[in-house]
Amino acid sequence: MQDVNPSRLTGPPMRLRLGTTTLPMVGHVRMYVCGITPYDVTHLGHAATYIWADAAERVLRWHGHTVTVARNVTDVDDVLYAEARRRGESHTMLATLQRAAFEGTMATLQVRQPDLSPSAAQHIGHVVQLAAALLDRDAAYERNGTVYARTSHAYATTGLDRETALQRAAEFHDNPGDPDKDDPLDITVWQAATPDDEVSWPSPWGEGRPGWHAECAAMVLALFGASVDLHCGGADLAYPHHACEAALAEAATGVAPFARGWLRAGLVSVNGEKMAKSTGNLVLAEDLLREHSPGAIRLMCLNRPWAQPWEYSPAELDLAEATLEQLYAAAARLEAQPGAAAVPAALLDDLDVPRALAIALEDGGQAARTFIELLALS
Ligand code: ZN
Repeated sequence: MQDVNPSRLTGPPMRLRLGTTTLPMVGHVRMYVCGITPYDVTHLGHAATYIWADAAERVLRWHGHTVTVARNVTDVDDVLYAEARRRGESHTMLATLQRAAFEGTMATLQVRQPDLSPSAAQHIGHVVQLAAALLDRDAAYERNGTVYARTSHAYATTGLDRETALQRAAEFHDNPGDPDKDDPLDITVWQAATPDDEVSWPSPWGEGRPGWHAECAAMVLALFGASVDLHCGGADLAYPHHACEAALAEAATGVAPFARGWLRAGLVSVNGEKMAKSTGNLVLAEDLLREHSPGAIRLMCLNRPWAQPWEYSPAELDLAEATLEQLYAAAARLEAQPGAAAVPAALLDDLDVPRALAIALEDGGQAARTFIELLALS
């Protein structure tokens, strides 16, 4: 494995503001992006999340930083197994094909390939180590071959109340009704196998498999050590996934914060509803790519505050196409204005794409060319 942290003191010092957090960056930046469960096609909501993570990475690289990005693949997941059964395919085949399709779409959308693509199945041993560490610190307990972590307070960091946290836990299949739990908000680090399970691995607690939140925590710890500089994902992952992931890692290592900064892209809705397979309310990235340029799709996703939820409509995409044309025209102007530095500077300030775009359009020339190149809009 490559040395992801050869030095913390290479590259210029700078500050990246993300909402209320200002992150001083010195040198090598470690980024972890929660990836897909490869069971279905990529919708615009996924694409927007990965385009935002890509934009953050590009801004950091532009400012001279070495960035190592890990984006995982959740290939141990009940939803994946269920979909494979429905299709009558093996889950490994389904995961391989869907992953290839996803990566193709990301490449077309100019989302840079991650440096590391860990998958849950490759890190079973690390989840077992994490569970053992949590048990050792009395941050977890074992019942009937399942290891539960004491995460009942993790929601406190998210601003949710307990009632909402319980709803979210149920929504994300954390099974708050499990009678073996000390608290309904405790989560599974290691899940004992049942006779219905297609896949399981040996552990000190018997055959079983990792829990989702533990997978990401274990992969971050294995790849980057006790913390990361920037952790990305969709806004819906704030709780339980990210909060529990951080709680597990912090309890196991004693190092806090687990993530110095969080970039959770606002959710995309269509016709006033959340974009989800369960509601049939999906806009697929590959469908949009048939009629629109990758640059326009990127600009549509990025030309707004990153955390804000937004509503997709075809008019949004037409507007992005038109803005892109204006931008190309501005880039062709030959102004010798020195204003180009204002574009990357605006992006360091809360990834403010609308402001950087306004500068690019107004100044034209090098400012517009910098904007296009930095955000991969050509
Ligand atoms: Zn994750």
